[in-house]
Amino acid sequence: MAESEEDRHLKLAGEFDCLPEPLPTLRHSTSHVMAQAVTQLFPEVRVAIGPAIADGFYYDFLKATPFTPEELERVEARMREIVKADLPFTREEWPRAKAIEYFKARNEPFKVEILEGLDVPTVSVYRQGDFLDLCRGPHVPSTGALRAFKLLSSSGAYWRGDEKNPMLQRIYGTAWLTQEDLDKHLWRLEEARKRDHRKLGRELDLFEFHDIAPGAPFWLPGGMIVVRELEQFAREHLDARGYLEISTPLLVNKRLWEQSGHWAYYHENMFLVEVEGDVFGLKPMNCPESTFVYGRALRSYRDLPLRFSEMGRCHRNERSGTLTGLARVRQFTQDDAHIYCRPDQLQAEITDLLDLVREWYATFGLVPSFKLSTRPPEKLGTEQQWDQMEDALAQALSANGLAYDLNKGDGAFYGPKIDIDVEDALGRQWQLATIQLDLNLPERFACEYIDSDGQPKRPVVVHRVIFGSYERFIGILTEHFAGAFPTWLAPVQARVLPVSEKHGDYGRSVFARLRQARIRAELDDRNEKLGYRIRDAQVRKVPYTLVVGEREAQQGTASLRQRGGAESVVLPVERIVADLLAEAGRRSATLTVGRSA
Ligand SMILES: [Zn+2]
Ligand SMILES: [Zn+2]
Repeated sequence: MAESEEDRHLKLAGEFDCLPEPLPTLRHSTSHVMAQAVTQLFPEVRVAIGPAIADGFYYDFLKATPFTPEELERVEARMREIVKADLPFTREEWPRAKAIEYFKARNEPFKVEILEGLDVPTVSVYRQGDFLDLCRGPHVPSTGALRAFKLLSSSGAYWRGDEKNPMLQRIYGTAWLTQEDLDKHLWRLEEARKRDHRKLGRELDLFEFHDIAPGAPFWLPGGMIVVRELEQFAREHLDARGYLEISTPLLVNKRLWEQSGHWAYYHENMFLVEVEGDVFGLKPMNCPESTFVYGRALRSYRDLPLRFSEMGRCHRNERSGTLTGLARVRQFTQDDAHIYCRPDQLQAEITDLLDLVREWYATFGLVPSFKLSTRPPEKLGTEQQWDQMEDALAQALSANGLAYDLNKGDGAFYGPKIDIDVEDALGRQWQLATIQLDLNLPERFACEYIDSDGQPKRPVVVHRVIFGSYERFIGILTEHFAGAFPTWLAPVQARVLPVSEKHGDYGRSVFARLRQARIRAELDDRNEKLGYRIRDAQVRKVPYTLVVGEREAQQGTASLRQRGGAESVVLPVERIVADLLAEAGRRSATLTVGRSA
């Protein structure tokens, strides 16, 4: 695995500090300019490291007090002066001893510590103007090449990420090749803040976290509707494609994890319980247990493929400091499945699976992209097995007309895989689905089928998730839709608003009709102004608001307003009911009721 840029800065391993590509080089160079500005403005500050990261860069400083927003502004202004001065970045090779002496003389303990940890005769340094940093580059030719950047925030961070070490002050910034790219990124950040699923989850009564159960959400009634609709969506598709649903125990004897091989390297991430002198673990994945269902009967080549799906509730002991809303949890529910098939069936299975993946994401307006990871140097099985498996994956991608990136050598030791990322409404990438082939599991659990020649053979096992987990997927959907779910997912699909108390009876009858048609409806007959109640329905992101007054009561109609719309249209209640049910039934991504006559 490639080391992170942070690691490369600390160990000076490899040829460069940052990837020799335009964006990382630009960002790393910007971090040097930031460190130059900081040391000019705050001479008492000590410098640590400043790598490029996704979308930007940071630099860590030892400073007695956190950077204030005003200080960040001053730093950024000084950076712009340094850019204007167009100072060249120049590289020098120094004996390591000279570098240690230099940084000791400048009282830079972190640089000295990095240098003393090295076992090389020479190191390189980069200089721009009066600033010199221990660095292997590469850099842009001069500071004038930096234009589109912005400092974003500052927060505490321990030296080398270890809480026993001194607390440093980290400044985060972002840098892009053009002002347009920078503006787009800043818009995305602002929009992401507004759409933060933890905030929307509370505001829309979807889910809540409590420190009584870190990393495990309390699903509120609204969120539970989304869970149920997604489960139903998944089940309909899986039933149609011949999956068989199973459910396996949460708490399993550690013997299982020893047999699967997870115990050796994974048990520290498991929650363990002692029962009658035996150690049990809450399952962190569903795979080993699915083999028990496979192995409970003698399987013939005619029985395959077997597709066992499971809404598998898993637990993993993530460190409390890493837990983040629904994105990083300790308890989650995978939309898991394990497919057991003959080698000659593999390609057809993967082809069908990719078709399902495409159909699935299209429903949510998520755009998928595909990565194929092939055999690593250390691996199980024969070259011939790998040829067949990799070929099946590649052919299935082609059969679906899908372009993909090839990650050579990036597969697991037990099989190749396809990873699928999706792009959301903000253009952010999320890894959701994985299709992983596995030679190891059937071997460890001695899974067999009797082939047409009467001989026992090992089936191929495919692990796959499509949502990933319901928890994380709902977090992503909440931000993707900014809480404005399509009608089929919306916790409340329609709200009925009587104009005044006089129209209360008719309002209640419309509400009752919607309920009877199994439309998720609410009645808002609070003693508040109509305008206030209409705005409230918009704030709650309810797809349809039905206002009813004198005329509507006489005609059996309602004045219908779509979420986000200013116009309303008067329609018969029965027409609204029929159209709304049809829209939800076909899982439309857009609101259609009342749009055209
Ligand atoms: Zn550097
Ligand atoms: Zn699995």
